[in-house]
Amino acid sequence: MKKKCKNCKTKFGWKKIFRAIWSKSKIICNHCKTENEISLSSKIVFFLVGLAPVFANFIFYVVNDYFFQIGKLPLTTTYMIWYWFLLLVSPYLVNLKK
Ligand SMILES: [Zn+2]
Repeated sequence: MKKKCKNCKTKFGWKKIFRAIWSKSKIICNHCKTENEISLSSKIVFFLVGLAPVFANFIFYVVNDYFFQIGKLPLTTTYMIWYWFLLLVSPYLVNLKK
C-alpha cells in the first residue's frame, strides 16, 4: 500500500503524502526530484467517501426512522470519528501521477 515515486520507485512515507494532500502541494521525490501529483480521481474518491456516511445515514433514517449512532454519541461526533479515520488512512487512498 506504500506510495512510490512514479519515476524512480522511491517510497514515500505517510507523513510526506499526508502533508501533500492537505496542503494541496505536490510530493517532490527526495531521490530524483520528480514532482508527483495527487490525481484528480483520488480527490473525487475522497469527496465521495467523505459524504458516504451522511448519505448512508439518511437512507438508514428513512428505513428505520432514526439515525445510526455509535452508542449515545451525538450524530456529529459519529461523523467526526469517520472524518478522523478518513484523515488517518488518506495517504493510503491516493493515487499519484507525474
Ligand atoms: Zn523519484
